[in-house]
Amino acid sequence: MFCIECGKEDKELFKGRCHSCFAASNKLITIPSELEVESCAHCSSIHVGDKWMETTISEEDFIAQTIAQESVPDEDAEDVALEIDLINQKGSILEMMITASGKVLGIPVRKEFKVNVKINRNACPECSKYASGYYEAVLQLRADTRPLEAEEIQAADDIIKRLLDKLSKKNRMAYLSQRIVIKEGVDYYFGSYKSARKISNVLKEQMGGMLGESPRLMGRDKSAGKDLYRIWISLRLPIFQKGDFITHEDHVGQIIDINGRKIVIMDLETLENISISWREYSNLEKVAGKEDVKITTVTSKTPTEIQLLNPETYQPIDMDLLSELADINIGEEVEVIEIKGKIYIIPPKK
Ligand SMILES: [Zn+2]
Ligand SMILES: [Zn+2]
Repeated sequence: MFCIECGKEDKELFKGRCHSCFAASNKLITIPSELEVESCAHCSSIHVGDKWMETTISEEDFIAQTIAQESVPDEDAEDVALEIDLINQKGSILEMMITASGKVLGIPVRKEFKVNVKINRNACPECSKYASGYYEAVLQLRADTRPLEAEEIQAADDIIKRLLDKLSKKNRMAYLSQRIVIKEGVDYYFGSYKSARKISNVLKEQMGGMLGESPRLMGRDKSAGKDLYRIWISLRLPIFQKGDFITHEDHVGQIIDINGRKIVIMDLETLENISISWREYSNLEKVAGKEDVKITTVTSKTPTEIQLLNPETYQPIDMDLLSELADINIGEEVEVIEIKGKIYIIPPKK
């Protein structure tokens, strides 16, 4: 028998060819001469199969991986290895040189292939949502029957920014798509409801207030066959702030702390601290602000009584001396607050 390629007589023929002609005619791999890959123009996501995924590999590595996946080794080839090089780039088309090496019938074989890879740069679903201003939840920051203070808005902005920096590392949808200042307060639009909720809880924990949530039906997703909701979260800061004065049941107190769990007041009659739950909020009345505090002078003092001047009328007022105020001396100035016609001494801060 003769080799159909070289005519040599061989003991053993493979598909009509001698050893070396059979090896030389083997292509090692089959690979399409044109390939396409899709990656996101805005982030590091790539489109693989039927889904998008985030990746840490470079575009070159992604292309090399795609080429390796699309290369089908020949059934007669063994130990096939690929070397992939970029030889030219024209716009979004990369000319790649693939050098395949392997063995056929134990004989080393090398083959070269040129493949044009087209890179389609599009927006991944998450980036297109971001670009279109997509949001799942709106946080409405408000204050009860008063405008928000600039410092409160600043504090909320800072907390939100810090948390988004952290959350966005794990959740691409943890972004602020819009921040709108309106007369009533500030509306924050978040890409992810889960993140919006976490942020709202931290805001409440640090700033206090009443947190509420209500879904709004936005329409219907026909392809998924379900209703589309967006969630409105409301955080209403209290009417009062630290330093203001409130009444609660028969107590008159100055607010010394506000946090997510409670409001702490110093009772102005006993100078003891009282913690009040947010559930009691509707029973609290703001009776004076921290700006209403006045300064007056102590005019006389006995072991049990103290006399000072009404800061408005300069009339002397006698009151029982609480032991906590025993350090105050005649002639010294003290802070006082008038609530419902009665003057209270605010103990000096130690
Ligand atoms: Zn031959
Ligand atoms: Zn993207």
